[in-house]
Amino acid sequence: MFDFAPAAAADALAIIRRLQAAGFVAYLAGGCVRDGLLGRQPKDFDVATDAAPETVRELFGRRNTLAFGVSFGVIGVRGSAATPTEVATFRSDGTYSDGRRPDHVRFGSAEEDALRRDFTINGLFHDPVRDVVIDFVGGRADLANRLVRAIGDPRQRIAEDKLRMLRAVRFAATLGFTLDYQTAASIRRSAAEVTVTSGERIGAELRRMLGNRGASLALELLADTHLLEPIWPGTERNAEALKRAIRLAGAVQPPEFKAIVAVVIAATSSDPAATAADLAERWKWSGDERDAVRHTLRYLDTVVAADRLAWSVVQPVLMSPHRSSLLQAAESWALVHDLPTAGIELCRQRLASWPAERLDPPPLVTGKTLIDLGFRPGPAFKRTLATIRDAQLDGEIDSEVEATAWVKRLLDEA
Ligand code: ATP
Ligand code: MG
Repeated sequence: MFDFAPAAAADALAIIRRLQAAGFVAYLAGGCVRDGLLGRQPKDFDVATDAAPETVRELFGRRNTLAFGVSFGVIGVRGSAATPTEVATFRSDGTYSDGRRPDHVRFGSAEEDALRRDFTINGLFHDPVRDVVIDFVGGRADLANRLVRAIGDPRQRIAEDKLRMLRAVRFAATLGFTLDYQTAASIRRSAAEVTVTSGERIGAELRRMLGNRGASLALELLADTHLLEPIWPGTERNAEALKRAIRLAGAVQPPEFKAIVAVVIAATSSDPAATAADLAERWKWSGDERDAVRHTLRYLDTVVAADRLAWSVVQPVLMSPHRSSLLQAAESWALVHDLPTAGIELCRQRLASWPAERLDPPPLVTGKTLIDLGFRPGPAFKRTLATIRDAQLDGEIDSEVEATAWVKRLLDEA
């Protein structure tokens, strides 16, 4: 089921052998079992065991272990991979009073540990030594039926931890699975409470669900479960715009979070710049994400119309580090709105074929040139520099002599 050659997999297998040899129960657990049964190589391999956290530390040596989440009984065990393997003691979670985290945990059996997990597809264990799957929750059947279903009573499981609502949508969207009917109904009932989850966590979930091929399905599911409105105000009010946003999200190729967010905002908001600023704050976007979304929203039209605009208008837009998000967004925008693509093609073609010194030539004159000519810095000075730069980019002047002559004329007029 797994390729145990990569370091992370080999580490987990060695840890399980060692624990089993010492008389403990030890399995692969959670996401890696799900991914393995789906024929995908997991990113990380989590181990679950009935050995107590202290015992795990003694067995592998304190120097090779890290206390990751002491209160949850998670120990990091160092191996040959860059990141340590997480070894968690089987546990059952106590009551939840903050809608996010259990108040206390109690160590228990493998079955209890399966039952405290969120979805049946995430509740499987695998014994890699005997090569058997251990399924207390019906996870194999749901994997076969491509179904995301809460373990136990969905209402209660969501009441315990509101983040599970977003996780359900993320797994359904990224795996292309169906949301179980009861689970979806429970999410609809509690959707407004999703905001008890921190902005960072909501942001992280959205980043993961809107950054890949499942993005349009994610938006559809968020809208269908009423989660979209509380996390993305305004989107559900306009059904037509939302439909277009879902198509736009699916048309961003290759899918990318920043470009997808930008087209969805452009399609649904009456004030895109303000919406972007609001979402950036709520979801704790990185500086790069903020800038890329802002740049994309501001220059979407410029890129689409690039073939009808002066190059001096288009060039600065394409010299931005955010040009790839912008071009991806523009392609989706043109496709869904059935607009001509000559402008986007012109941008792509110049970016691909022009050498750097033609795309972004060194300025013919600089502030220093102007000062040497005897001019003083000020608004007219700045305007002059910009005018000369535009004339240079548009090919109207191409030598320092010509540029200097322009400068003198412009500043004499000013
Ligand atoms: P991925 O890492 O691809 O997002 P994963 O299933 O590994 O998927 P993690 O967030 O890494 O997800 O969590 C590991 C496992 O821990 C899950 O498979 C699930 O069994 C359990 N789990 C994680 N978060 C929760 C939660 N909020 N409630 C209940 N169980 C959870
Ligand atoms: Mg994981």
